[in-house]
Amino acid sequence: MKIGALDMGINYKQCSKCGSKNSLRIIDGMPGPELFQEADAGKVKLGGCCIIEGAPEYFCNDCKYEWNREQAIDGAYSKIKTVKASVGGYFGGYYNVEIDLVNLKTIWSHRGGGEAESTVHKTIRKSTVVKFIEQIKMADLLNWKAKYIEPGVCDGAQWSVEIIIDRSAIKKHGDNKFPDNWEIFCKAVARSTSKIFE
Ligand SMILES: [Zn+2]
Repeated sequence: MKIGALDMGINYKQCSKCGSKNSLRIIDGMPGPELFQEADAGKVKLGGCCIIEGAPEYFCNDCKYEWNREQAIDGAYSKIKTVKASVGGYFGGYYNVEIDLVNLKTIWSHRGGGEAESTVHKTIRKSTVVKFIEQIKMADLLNWKAKYIEPGVCDGAQWSVEIIIDRSAIKKHGDNKFPDNWEIFCKAVARSTSKIFE
Protein backbone atom coordinates (compact mmCIF):
# COMPACT_ATOMS: atom_id res chain seq x y z
CA MET A 1 0.00 0.00 0.00
CA LYS A 2 1.20 3.46 -0.76
CA ILE A 3 1.34 6.11 1.92
CA GLY A 4 -1.17 8.85 1.18
CA ALA A 5 -0.60 12.58 1.23
CA LEU A 6 -2.44 12.63 4.52
CA ASP A 7 0.54 11.22 6.44
CA MET A 8 1.58 14.83 6.98
CA GLY A 9 -1.75 15.55 8.69
CA ILE A 10 -4.93 16.81 7.14
CA ASN A 11 -4.57 18.44 3.73
CA TYR A 12 -6.94 21.37 4.17
CA LYS A 13 -6.34 22.56 0.60
CA GLN A 14 -7.62 19.37 -1.02
CA CYS A 15 -11.21 19.61 -2.24
CA SER A 16 -13.33 17.15 -0.28
CA LYS A 17 -15.89 17.03 -3.09
CA CYS A 18 -13.77 16.19 -6.16
CA GLY A 19 -10.34 15.49 -4.59
CA SER A 20 -8.59 18.23 -6.60
CA LYS A 21 -5.64 20.07 -5.04
CA ASN A 22 -6.15 22.96 -7.44
CA SER A 23 -7.66 25.23 -4.81
CA LEU A 24 -7.28 28.77 -3.54
CA ARG A 25 -7.40 30.36 -0.11
CA ILE A 26 -10.38 32.69 0.28
CA ILE A 27 -9.37 35.91 2.01
CA ASP A 28 -12.12 37.84 3.77
CA GLY A 29 -11.97 41.45 4.87
CA MET A 30 -11.19 44.67 3.01
CA PRO A 31 -8.33 43.83 0.63
CA GLY A 32 -5.32 46.11 0.21
CA PRO A 33 -3.58 46.70 -3.16
CA GLU A 34 -1.27 43.68 -2.75
CA LEU A 35 -4.16 41.34 -2.17
CA PHE A 36 -5.97 42.69 -5.23
CA GLN A 37 -2.84 41.91 -7.26
CA GLU A 38 -2.65 38.38 -5.89
CA ALA A 39 -6.33 37.85 -6.65
CA ASP A 40 -5.81 39.10 -10.21
CA ALA A 41 -2.90 36.69 -10.58
CA GLY A 42 -5.17 33.83 -9.46
CA LYS A 43 -3.22 33.16 -6.27
CA VAL A 44 -6.06 33.86 -3.83
CA LYS A 45 -9.81 34.37 -4.01
CA LEU A 46 -11.38 37.40 -2.37
CA GLY A 47 -14.25 36.61 -0.04
CA GLY A 48 -16.71 38.94 1.64
CA CYS A 49 -15.67 42.24 3.17
CA CYS A 50 -16.55 41.10 6.70
CA ILE A 51 -15.04 38.17 8.54
CA ILE A 52 -17.81 35.72 9.40
CA GLU A 53 -17.21 32.66 11.53
CA GLY A 54 -17.79 29.41 9.64
CA ALA A 55 -17.41 31.11 6.26
CA PRO A 56 -15.58 29.14 3.54
CA GLU A 57 -11.78 29.46 3.56
CA TYR A 58 -10.92 27.49 0.41
CA PHE A 59 -12.24 27.46 -3.14
CA CYS A 60 -11.85 24.60 -5.67
CA ASN A 61 -10.86 25.80 -9.13
CA ASP A 62 -12.08 22.56 -10.67
CA CYS A 63 -15.57 22.08 -9.22
CA LYS A 64 -16.13 25.53 -7.58
CA TYR A 65 -16.82 23.93 -4.20
CA GLU A 66 -16.04 26.10 -1.15
CA TRP A 67 -15.17 24.85 2.32
CA ASN A 68 -13.45 25.72 5.58
CA ARG A 69 -10.95 23.97 7.86
CA GLU A 70 -13.68 22.46 10.03
CA GLN A 71 -15.30 20.85 6.96
CA ALA A 72 -11.88 19.64 5.73
CA ILE A 73 -11.37 17.87 9.08
CA ASP A 74 -14.84 16.28 8.94
CA GLY A 75 -14.24 15.24 5.32
CA ALA A 76 -10.91 13.58 6.15
CA TYR A 77 -12.34 11.62 9.09
CA SER A 78 -15.41 10.54 7.13
CA LYS A 79 -13.12 8.84 4.57
CA ILE A 80 -11.54 6.50 7.13
CA LYS A 81 -12.44 2.89 6.38
CA THR A 82 -10.49 0.91 8.96
CA VAL A 83 -8.38 1.68 12.01
CA LYS A 84 -5.86 -0.91 13.19
CA ALA A 85 -3.92 -0.43 16.39
CA SER A 86 -1.65 -2.32 18.72
CA VAL A 87 -0.14 -1.56 22.09
CA GLY A 88 1.82 -3.50 24.65
CA GLY A 89 5.18 -4.75 25.78
CA TYR A 90 7.12 -7.96 26.17
CA PHE A 91 5.97 -8.64 29.73
CA GLY A 92 2.27 -7.81 29.50
CA GLY A 93 1.80 -8.97 25.94
CA TYR A 94 0.19 -7.06 23.12
CA TYR A 95 -3.35 -5.92 22.41
CA ASN A 96 -4.27 -5.75 18.73
CA VAL A 97 -7.45 -4.30 17.33
CA GLU A 98 -8.98 -3.80 13.95
CA ILE A 99 -12.05 -1.57 13.70
CA ASP A 100 -13.80 -1.85 10.34
CA LEU A 101 -15.96 1.25 10.03
CA VAL A 102 -17.50 0.18 6.72
CA ASN A 103 -18.50 -3.40 7.48
CA LEU A 104 -19.22 -2.62 11.16
CA LYS A 105 -16.91 -5.26 12.59
CA THR A 106 -14.15 -5.31 15.17
CA ILE A 107 -11.44 -7.83 15.93
CA TRP A 108 -9.68 -7.63 19.27
CA SER A 109 -6.88 -9.94 20.36
CA HIS A 110 -4.29 -10.34 23.08
CA ARG A 111 -1.06 -12.24 22.58
CA GLY A 112 1.97 -12.94 24.73
CA GLY A 113 2.64 -11.99 28.33
CA GLY A 114 2.53 -15.65 29.32
CA GLU A 115 -1.21 -15.95 28.73
CA ALA A 116 -3.16 -18.01 26.25
CA GLU A 117 -3.92 -16.12 23.07
CA SER A 118 -7.43 -14.77 22.87
CA THR A 119 -9.35 -13.27 19.96
CA VAL A 120 -12.81 -11.71 20.00
CA HIS A 121 -14.83 -10.80 16.88
CA LYS A 122 -17.74 -8.43 17.24
CA THR A 123 -20.27 -6.59 15.10
CA ILE A 124 -20.89 -2.97 15.96
CA ARG A 125 -23.69 -0.52 15.28
CA LYS A 126 -23.48 2.44 12.95
CA SER A 127 -23.96 4.71 16.01
CA THR A 128 -20.82 3.19 17.57
CA VAL A 129 -18.89 4.11 14.43
CA VAL A 130 -20.22 7.68 14.53
CA LYS A 131 -19.15 7.99 18.18
CA PHE A 132 -15.74 6.42 17.44
CA ILE A 133 -15.10 8.95 14.65
CA GLU A 134 -16.09 11.81 16.99
CA GLN A 135 -13.62 10.52 19.59
CA ILE A 136 -10.66 9.98 17.26
CA LYS A 137 -11.30 13.46 15.89
CA MET A 138 -11.12 14.72 19.49
CA ALA A 139 -7.85 12.78 19.87
CA ASP A 140 -6.61 14.59 16.73
CA LEU A 141 -5.49 11.20 15.37
CA LEU A 142 -4.87 12.30 11.77
CA ASN A 143 -2.49 15.03 12.91
CA TRP A 144 -0.32 12.78 15.07
CA LYS A 145 3.30 12.60 14.00
CA ALA A 146 4.48 9.42 12.26
CA LYS A 147 6.93 8.52 15.05
CA TYR A 148 7.17 9.02 18.82
CA ILE A 149 10.42 7.63 20.19
CA GLU A 150 11.94 7.91 23.65
CA PRO A 151 15.58 6.88 23.26
CA GLY A 152 17.45 4.80 25.81
CA VAL A 153 14.57 2.60 26.99
CA CYS A 154 14.94 -1.05 25.95
CA ASP A 155 11.95 -2.99 27.19
CA GLY A 156 9.06 -0.61 27.56
CA ALA A 157 5.83 -0.19 25.67
CA GLN A 158 5.34 -0.06 21.94
CA TRP A 159 2.32 1.07 19.98
CA SER A 160 1.27 1.44 16.37
CA VAL A 161 -1.76 2.75 14.53
CA GLU A 162 -2.68 2.22 10.90
CA ILE A 163 -5.48 4.30 9.38
CA ILE A 164 -6.85 3.06 6.07
CA ILE A 165 -8.39 5.71 3.83
CA ASP A 166 -9.49 4.60 0.37
CA ARG A 167 -6.51 2.72 -1.01
CA SER A 168 -3.83 4.34 1.12
CA ALA A 169 -2.68 3.72 4.66
CA ILE A 170 -1.33 6.18 7.18
CA LYS A 171 0.98 4.59 9.73
CA LYS A 172 2.07 5.95 13.08
CA HIS A 173 4.06 4.28 15.83
CA GLY A 174 5.98 4.88 19.00
CA ASP A 175 8.39 3.41 21.53
CA ASN A 176 7.86 4.41 25.15
CA LYS A 177 6.45 7.73 24.04
CA PHE A 178 2.84 8.52 23.26
CA PRO A 179 0.96 11.35 21.56
CA ASP A 180 -0.73 13.83 23.93
CA ASN A 181 -4.17 12.43 23.20
CA TRP A 182 -3.20 8.76 23.32
CA GLU A 183 -5.60 8.07 26.23
CA ILE A 184 -8.56 9.55 24.38
CA PHE A 185 -7.74 7.24 21.48
CA CYS A 186 -7.42 4.19 23.76
CA LYS A 187 -10.78 4.93 25.37
CA ALA A 188 -12.38 5.22 21.92
CA VAL A 189 -10.92 1.83 20.94
CA ALA A 190 -11.94 0.21 24.23
CA ARG A 191 -15.51 1.54 23.91
CA SER A 192 -15.88 0.32 20.33
CA THR A 193 -14.51 -3.16 20.99
CA SER A 194 -15.86 -3.47 24.57
CA LYS A 195 -12.43 -4.87 25.51
CA ILE A 196 -9.24 -3.65 27.20
CA PHE A 197 -6.91 -1.52 25.14
CA GLU A 198 -4.25 0.38 27.05
ZN1 LIG B 1 -13.42 20.26 -6.21
